[in-house]
Amino acid sequence: MPLFASVAILPTRKIDQIRTQIDSYTFPRMRKSKFVKLKLREAGFISRALLSSRHPVLAHLIPMRRCNLACGYCNEYDHTSSPVPLDVIKSRLDKLASLGTSIVTISGGEPMMHPQLDDIIHHIRVRGMIAGLISNGYYFTPERIKRLNKAGLEYLQISIDNVEPDEVSRKSLRVLDKKLRYLSEYADFHVNINSVIGGGIKNPEDALSVARRAVELKFSTTVGVIHDNDGTLKPLSPKEKNLFQQVKKLGNKDHARLNWFQDSIAEGKPYNWRCRAGARYLYICEDGLVHWCSQQRGYPGIPLEKYTMDDFDREYNTEKWCAPTCTLQCVHQVGILDNWRDPQHAPGQTKPESSLQDTIHEVLRAE
Ligand code: SF4
Ligand code: SF4
Repeated sequence: MPLFASVAILPTRKIDQIRTQIDSYTFPRMRKSKFVKLKLREAGFISRALLSSRHPVLAHLIPMRRCNLACGYCNEYDHTSSPVPLDVIKSRLDKLASLGTSIVTISGGEPMMHPQLDDIIHHIRVRGMIAGLISNGYYFTPERIKRLNKAGLEYLQISIDNVEPDEVSRKSLRVLDKKLRYLSEYADFHVNINSVIGGGIKNPEDALSVARRAVELKFSTTVGVIHDNDGTLKPLSPKEKNLFQQVKKLGNKDHARLNWFQDSIAEGKPYNWRCRAGARYLYICEDGLVHWCSQQRGYPGIPLEKYTMDDFDREYNTEKWCAPTCTLQCVHQVGILDNWRDPQHAPGQTKPESSLQDTIHEVLRAE
């Protein structure tokens, strides 16, 4: 379906919303024309996702597992593996495009260590998909940022865990501030800075410092609530809850509305929703296998090149045992698109099913 035909499902309200965003957006560097084009493409993809549930909305693709850091909580890196060859990555992207995938986000390990990252991003764009990147931020220089602009990168997310590096994490504001200033000056793509709260993070007030710095540099900002070290749900302390609310206020309010599951997690309560991992959301590891997500590797563990719509349908309808305590924001957000249809019959469901109207309303309010 041509892009503008699919935009037609939400014409006036979406266009008004985009106009408001354009008026209020501060454009640290991203060209206004590129921003408008990106918003229209997003609107087209959202409309398409509401019209049909039979294509992936978001895929996370891992071009290398290697990372330059070793964060204490992370189970997604090694220090030895080689980059996946470009032609192999390209064939995986071609398969994702043939499944009708809307957005591909390159993740890792640290994807900036892949020597052909620019070619990978370029190929995502050539295949008509939105190109995103998740990075720890260490490799950004003015030169490197300009190359990413040229390759066609559209979104970047950096998670910053603390202000001063410690034994758990060196993704620290003090270390990365210079990189953020480069991004503010040179990036022609959307930059989001994510901070974290909970999970025994030593100085919860650091999340507020990170979010304030992001706003100062005209980036968008989000906050993730994480589990305790043993993976159990524990309510945030009163101090953490207060900081969580303050950080949320600094960030994109629409994004916060899409992340209402976080309020349950913050209270230490399980949350009932329909995880569509393995279908609307795909996680493709460095070996080219499809997994539910980074935290549930092994399921279904089928090579992407052999993935069929039968696999897609099975996973779409499979209730995920880990859903009530899941904190993965992007998979929750993808789940909203189908919350109004195709129940997975979760036992003890507490949240009433939302209607198509509710879903459109939620999506329209989101950036
Ligand atoms: S930077 Fe990211 S991938 Fe690397 S160890 Fe830390 S959390 Fe894991
Ligand atoms: S519920 Fe969360 S942890 Fe479980 S498969 Fe879905 S995204 Fe992964």
